[in-house]
Amino acid sequence: MIRIFLILFMPLAVLGGCWTAFGLLELLPPRAMEVVPYGTVTLAAIICWRFRRSRAVPVLVLVALVCWFVALMPEGVGQGPLSRVVLASFAVFVPPNVLLASLIGDRGVFNRSGLGQLAFYGVQALVVLFVASGAFGAYEPQAAQMLIDSADQLLHWRLLDSSWDQWTILPQPALLSGAVAVVLLLLKAMVKDSPMDAGLAAGMAGILAALHAVGHAPQPAAFATGAALALVVPLLQDSYRMAFLDELTGLPARRSLVADLRGLGSRYSIAMADIDHFKKFNDTYGHDVGDEVLRMVASHLGKVSGGGRAYRYGGEEFTILFPRKGKDDAFEHLDALRAAIESAGFAVRTKPRPVKKPKAKPVKKQPATKTVSVTISMGVAERETGQTPEEVLKQADKTLYKAKKKGRNRVEKA
Ligand code: GH3
Ligand code: MG
Ligand code: MG
Repeated sequence: MIRIFLILFMPLAVLGGCWTAFGLLELLPPRAMEVVPYGTVTLAAIICWRFRRSRAVPVLVLVALVCWFVALMPEGVGQGPLSRVVLASFAVFVPPNVLLASLIGDRGVFNRSGLGQLAFYGVQALVVLFVASGAFGAYEPQAAQMLIDSADQLLHWRLLDSSWDQWTILPQPALLSGAVAVVLLLLKAMVKDSPMDAGLAAGMAGILAALHAVGHAPQPAAFATGAALALVVPLLQDSYRMAFLDELTGLPARRSLVADLRGLGSRYSIAMADIDHFKKFNDTYGHDVGDEVLRMVASHLGKVSGGGRAYRYGGEEFTILFPRKGKDDAFEHLDALRAAIESAGFAVRTKPRPVKKPKAKPVKKQPATKTVSVTISMGVAERETGQTPEEVLKQADKTLYKAKKKGRNRVEKA
């Protein structure tokens, strides 16, 4: 729950933070304000590219373009058709283009996909400029004017004829496409557990906000900076996950364990757990099913009671820390876990791999699923005076081997 909240709202919070901080930006010399957004965009683009999150790069290019465009109009959009149509086009077309970037995914920047996407933006920009500037007015003045008027009318189409949108210069189609894109991106972020899509939603909201704030410097620059930062936030979230969470099971990883061992007090217990005969499981049903068993066991261990915290130590081994608990106390909670895993069983969906050569005779049909038993063995040790966490962990590991020797599917105390 907390994770979903962080995924969805962190980038938006950064954008909001930049908006509230724009008062501070006024303290900077005006020339600095011209540089800050572009500097942030460039830095963000390099980071996103290096971190293989290339879908953010075209969006950062859009941020820079909008920033440049808005800076051309320090007095606001004015009445001229050119800026009016270009601004509305930006606002209407940015959301679908950001959605497209999300759908294309991370396919690189300096290749056909990345450059093609930028070229696609370029073509759109040329079409808009061609129409808005009345470029062929010299030859066909009437047709050029008609084209501008129709584009203007279409982009400013009033879907709802009331005054609810008086607060913004953004046309209704832009508000609609922006809202739809934000909802879709946040849904995608939630369903696919992908922070970058929430970052794209925030980046896009930042672009629209910068357009909305045209003529109110330094607000657009603040929004553009916020949009660029919001696109970097997901990288920090991803990096945190990569460093501290185990990708397969979602449990805290070895690095988290090492960090948390440092924070233990003088009284604690450490347990080591290991799946019984796991190799046989892998050999019989395949590695994928083995991975599923790991996930199943991890989901039980993750729910450990008694204030314990489970980590994936590596392979099919797990560690459980019990701060402020002796081994007798910890034992109860560990044995409950062991029993829960034993009684849960595991439904194997795939047929076991044939161990020997299959016979020529037709074999009896295997049932689609079969419940097999998965058990774990554990060893728990309590810190004794003078022991380091590493020594306690080693003790727990030795005790685990005692449990294995005594027949597995049991918890042993040191
Ligand atoms: P014991 O009861 O003595 O623990 O027997 P075991 O077969 O579980 O022990 P062993 O340590 O020999 O086997 C561990 C196996 O775990 C070997 C390795 O292929 C498998 N393994 C380690 N990490 C993973 C993983 O991430 N996914 C899968 N599917 N298998 C893994
Ligand atoms: Mg093992
Ligand atoms: Mg094992």
